[in-house]
Parts: sequence; C-alpha cells; structure tokens
Amino acid sequence: MATKPTIDLTSVLANAVRGLRLSERVGALPNVASKRTRALKGRVKGAKAVVSLCPYCAVGCSTLAYVSDEGKLLDVEGNPDSPVSGGHLCPKGSAIFGMTVNEARWTTAKYRAPFATEWEEKPLDWVLDRIAERFKKTREETFVRNLPNGKRVNHTLGIASLGGATFGIEENYLLQKLMKTCGVVSVENQARI
Ligand code: SF4
Repeated sequence: MATKPTIDLTSVLANAVRGLRLSERVGALPNVASKRTRALKGRVKGAKAVVSLCPYCAVGCSTLAYVSDEGKLLDVEGNPDSPVSGGHLCPKGSAIFGMTVNEARWTTAKYRAPFATEWEEKPLDWVLDRIAERFKKTREETFVRNLPNGKRVNHTLGIASLGGATFGIEENYLLQKLMKTCGVVSVENQARI
C-alpha cells in the first residue's frame, strides 16, 4: 500500500516567517495587511502627551492629553503611570475627548425669562452678569447679622452653593473662599454626594 505524502507544517510556517520582523507577522503567520493599512499612522503618533487629570470625580484618575504641534487636542487617554487607576478610565473619564471636541457642544447659554414660553440664546458673559446681580440682591435681602438672642452670625441662608465635580482643587478653594466671605454657610460639592 502506497504511503500518503506528509506535510511538515512546522517547517512550512518556519520558512514563511523566516526573516520577517515581529511587526510583519501575526503570530506565526506572515501579516497580510494591505499597503494602505501599512501606510496608516496612529491618530496620536508624534503628538505631545500632556499629563492631566480627569475632572469628574474625587478618584482623580490621571490622563494623557495628546496635543498636535498646532495645539489641537487629538485624544485623551488614561495615564499608565497613574497610581490610582494604572491607565484605566471609567465611562465618564473615557468620554472626556468626545465631550470636549464635539460639534454639538453648546457654547451659549439657554435662558427662559420669567413667564416666557421660549428659550433664548444668551452669551456666557451676559449670564455671568445676571448670576452676579441675583447673588448680590439675594444676599442683601437675606443677610443676618445677629440672631434674635443677640448672637452675631453674619450669614445668609438664602443662598446655597453646589460645586461641580469638574472643579479642580484651586477652583474649589476659591469657591469656598468666596462663599464664606459672603456669609454663605450651605456649601457642598457634587463629588461628595
Ligand atoms: S470619573 Fe472615572 S475616570 Fe474620572 S476620576 Fe472618577 S473614576 Fe476616574
């Protein structure tokens, strides 16, 4: 009886990958990537990686913000050197780039005047002036120097402050200073809730 010819797959594979660099192989097989695929470059290749911080919660995961030579933000990823997250980001942190570079992002405020039925587009400076006006008016109307028993308190219970979790340490410090200077005693931050 004639014996069937056998193929030594090990030596076939070894010949196929001989002389190929690791990037030219997929495991033990030659990489069949097209010319176009070979010509593609990573989105952040050559970009400057700036160490930054996820602003969304008190965990404080470190990020790498990739910036082009023109100063354009290209991507934001977890920083592998972060001692608290080791390069990982939760879904909120992973969305930093998409939220920052986004054509649908609002750049004006929506304002609806008392009793109005329609929203108006307002510039941010206009909104900041309105907040300052209302803050001052409310403070003046509700500020208490002394309680009925004569105890000096110098406070207002008419205003409360809720800081956003996107605030950094410096912003929270300044907010605390501002609120306490104005006599606001109800000061909280979203990251603690
Ligand atoms: S929101 Fe997520 S990624 Fe950002 S600091 Fe908190 S845990 Fe980290």
